[in-house]
Amino acid sequence: MKRLKLLALFLFSALALQVSAQQKKYVMVIHGGAGTILKKNMSPEKEAAYIAALTKALNAGYAEIKAGKSSLDAVEATIHVLENDPHFNAGKGAVFTHDGRNELDAAIMDGKTLMAGSVAGVTTIKNPISAARAVMEKSEHVIMVGAGADQFAKEVGLKIVDPKYFWTKERWDGLKQAIKEDSTKAVLDHGSKKSELFGIKNHDYKFGTVGCVALDQAGNLAAGTSTGGMTNKKYGRVGDAPIIGAGTYCNNETAGISCTGWGEFYIRNVVAKTISDLMEYKGLSVAEASKIALDKVGKMGGDGGLIALDKKGNMTMPFNTEGMYRGAITADGKIEVSIYK
Ligand code: ASP
Repeated sequence: MKRLKLLALFLFSALALQVSAQQKKYVMVIHGGAGTILKKNMSPEKEAAYIAALTKALNAGYAEIKAGKSSLDAVEATIHVLENDPHFNAGKGAVFTHDGRNELDAAIMDGKTLMAGSVAGVTTIKNPISAARAVMEKSEHVIMVGAGADQFAKEVGLKIVDPKYFWTKERWDGLKQAIKEDSTKAVLDHGSKKSELFGIKNHDYKFGTVGCVALDQAGNLAAGTSTGGMTNKKYGRVGDAPIIGAGTYCNNETAGISCTGWGEFYIRNVVAKTISDLMEYKGLSVAEASKIALDKVGKMGGDGGLIALDKKGNMTMPFNTEGMYRGAITADGKIEVSIYK
């Protein structure tokens, strides 16, 4: 009798576990950048503002999904919220180049059709994620850069702003600090190449990209990323975000992926497409594949993180920095938001 009871208990818990695993179907995952984000450096007000912004962004995308709209609509709506919020290094809060400009990058990809669009080095588009989508849907190209991309966005009727719109004190101060630290480092390393690529350790103020992956009711995935790049970058530098396969990738058969971190490492490791390939050709799960790709970045000296979501609603949000602004929402609307490790 006792044995039977035990067996029943075991079967019941196994079933309960399975049900709870099944219930954890995520429909959206977002990030607001990775870096040296430590609780001891964060004021309660600032922490609350980040949590509120991430929650607002998740709700905006979730509303689209609930209304039966596409995952592309959800990604665009979510990223608009983050681009319009100066806390994030995208849109309004974009970081500065070495010569004091804001040059923005963004990409979006449709997991159903494998269509993709991106813009790089744009300076007047209020919401670069919409320009990326316009490149995908209204041009025969995949990537458009600089003045041409700005012109295209204007022609398709997107909101154009004066470049001054992107000026914020926090980012301006970040640039001054970066210039100071980088030149000190360059002197210490006698101006060697190492100082430019590997010597700069405390560069959290350089990150803060935003990204989103969504899964709609029709079962289609979409992924998008938007960024001001890295503080103190050289004129014309393009990061990983608008490079399809590096910082952004999406395929219904595998996963949608959006990366954040030291872009040069993500480009050289083709991180997002590698994750998709590991899933497609090796049969790895989204979490296993993401861990392998991020470990590779770390081994080479790069830091950052990523978010990935597969068509079954399994998600992962790994990072090798102290923190990453991140969040996810389940099919039944439960929000999870975190910042630290
Ligand atoms: N990955 C971005 C870049 O290198 C920066 C970031 O994620 O914050 O442009």
